[in-house]
Amino acid sequence: MIVAFVFIFGLFVGSFLNVVIFRLHRQESFIRGSSKCLFCGHKLYPQDLVPFFSFLYLRGRCRYCRERFSVQYPLVELATALAFVLIFVRLFGDFSPEFLTPLVILHLFNWWALAAFLVIIFVYDLKYYLILDSVVWPAIILALTANLVLGMLVWSLFTAMLVGGGFFFLQFVISQGRWIGGGDVRLGALMGAILGWPHILTALFIAYILGSVFSIFLLAGRKKGLKDKLPFGTFLALATFLTMLYGQILVDWYWSLFIF
Ligand SMILES: [Zn+2]
Repeated sequence: MIVAFVFIFGLFVGSFLNVVIFRLHRQESFIRGSSKCLFCGHKLYPQDLVPFFSFLYLRGRCRYCRERFSVQYPLVELATALAFVLIFVRLFGDFSPEFLTPLVILHLFNWWALAAFLVIIFVYDLKYYLILDSVVWPAIILALTANLVLGMLVWSLFTAMLVGGGFFFLQFVISQGRWIGGGDVRLGALMGAILGWPHILTALFIAYILGSVFSIFLLAGRKKGLKDKLPFGTFLALATFLTMLYGQILVDWYWSLFIF
């Protein structure tokens, strides 16, 4: 039952993230201003803005001009809701409410907030091939502060930030900015601040596997040539989320493949 509430809460947060992504791109304030249809400019009312369900009910079209909305909206809402549920289940799945301490609640909200930042980075890089400083810096500050309060060690966080940032900084210098951008360097540091040492390595490993599998898939479908740019921030964001939740499980599983 509570999982259903978490899912619906996630849909609403996802809906807000869509607005944030849209207005970051247009450099508008995402606190003020009401929602309008992009095509006809008609003001959208609460009944048009129920996350996911309005999209289903109106079959993805504007109620007023029947123009088709981007499928990004329901997808981001669903993905955020799913991420929120996965986080909730990971933290509360195997113990009872007596274990509800302030630290566990902080842990939950920290992961929810970080997941929200990662969703923005994921979508924004996929759409615009850009990792925004105005997203990455607040996320670094949040991750560092929360993780320190939650008891992660300073050296672990700073080593991981140095390794994550340094890994991309080296590629940036060697390629003179042709392979990757400065945004990847700061995203690498953010990954370190979220995951700590040594899971920054797990996340980089997963990101490269995801990126390779996806490239092979694209090349096989001849949708992109080898020289086309891949939105690598998208893979880094997904890998960071997977490692944040399942890092230890994935590492244990990986080694179990070699040790009999
Ligand atoms: Zn319209």
